[in-house]
Amino acid sequence: MPSPPAGYLLLDVRLADGRSADLRLADGRIADISPAGGPDRPDDARLRVVAAAGRLALPAFVDIHAHLDKAYTRDDLGDHDGTLPAAIQAMGERKKRFTPEDVAERAGRLILSGVAEGVTHVRTHVDVDSITGLRGLEGVRRAAEAHRQVCRVSIVAFPQLGIRSEPGALDRMQAAVEAGAGVVGGMPHWEAGREDQLAHVAALFDLAERHDLDVDMHVDESDDASVRTLEMVAEATIARGWQGRVTAGHVCSLAAADDEYAARVIDRCAEAGLTIVSNPATNLVIQGRGDRGLVRRGLTRIAEFRAAGVNVCLGQDNVCDGFYPFGRGSMLEVAFLGAHAAHLTGGDDLGYLLETVTSAPARAWRDAGYGLRAGCAADLNLFQAPSWVEALRLQRPPELVFFEGRLVASTAVSTSIGRVETGVTGRLA
Ligand SMILES: [Zn+2]
Repeated sequence: MPSPPAGYLLLDVRLADGRSADLRLADGRIADISPAGGPDRPDDARLRVVAAAGRLALPAFVDIHAHLDKAYTRDDLGDHDGTLPAAIQAMGERKKRFTPEDVAERAGRLILSGVAEGVTHVRTHVDVDSITGLRGLEGVRRAAEAHRQVCRVSIVAFPQLGIRSEPGALDRMQAAVEAGAGVVGGMPHWEAGREDQLAHVAALFDLAERHDLDVDMHVDESDDASVRTLEMVAEATIARGWQGRVTAGHVCSLAAADDEYAARVIDRCAEAGLTIVSNPATNLVIQGRGDRGLVRRGLTRIAEFRAAGVNVCLGQDNVCDGFYPFGRGSMLEVAFLGAHAAHLTGGDDLGYLLETVTSAPARAWRDAGYGLRAGCAADLNLFQAPSWVEALRLQRPPELVFFEGRLVASTAVSTSIGRVETGVTGRLA
């Protein structure tokens, strides 16, 4: 077997801002970016040359909100009405049969599916509750370890069934942190009333403080405007000095709240340095189910958060499970859905959309070495498209995916149109 190259020289790539450049990748990093047109043979013969011929280079995608433990369970579940409680109930039955091996196999499959789509960073929530105990966590941990050469996985311990409403929940969360979960999850709106919701938030921030961990909670995934735990999370973040370390996913009910209340809470979120993650795929199918006539889209107030300077990301959330029947871990697809659902189609909206699946989630991850700049980790994608907008429109996976300076995935798409005769060139795979 030939030895792997010491690095890569990518000649004539197109950057997102339209400039043409040559990129040298060495020692896992982007060693330098120079204007295109430099020598086409590297000084160092151990570098492999890629003639990119104007292909678009983007930083690798970051999926900041996934559920690897639940992936690919769709066909094992009983039929249900598609609402969040019904999906949780249906998944609960399947979760009884979770084993570390079963979870590791499915989680690994989704990690690889995402890598082929140019996603090299995945933050996944993993259920930690009285049904699964730590079996899901162990499975995802094994999958992350098995695929660490192609993808970085961050694990959030997720008490989906609540803290106050589940005996032993806090002990399990503590055990999950000791077993390797690096982020503290939560779902305060699942608790019965305001007091329990506040206690839920407080107990999980205590845990985060004790272990010096970031927090990433599922927040207000409801159409009901009276569901208001986002403000609890923002207040706790400020009170604990956890600014810049807390993420709130979904935040759907804020869209149903009145404008004045929403504006007040959004200001507090900005002060708390919160990250907001909207998950357009899942929320387009879960939310608004009770509406007739004008059916709500289920997304949070992305435009208002953006205007207030809050860090906003898009996440995949679910793939082929009880919550969402589609998905393949493609942030290109998630961004495409987000563009439609959040009206992000103007010129600067489209650039903003790229941030929501790259630099914004990297900021939430607190990955300072991320980006398409000299010195950053060489995690990047090459697309057969001249621009981000065209990559978004065409929805083709990246041709080449680099992770830590290694080529970890390649996809070739070939189409013949015209005199295509079956058995000669036609092959549908
Ligand atoms: Zn989720």
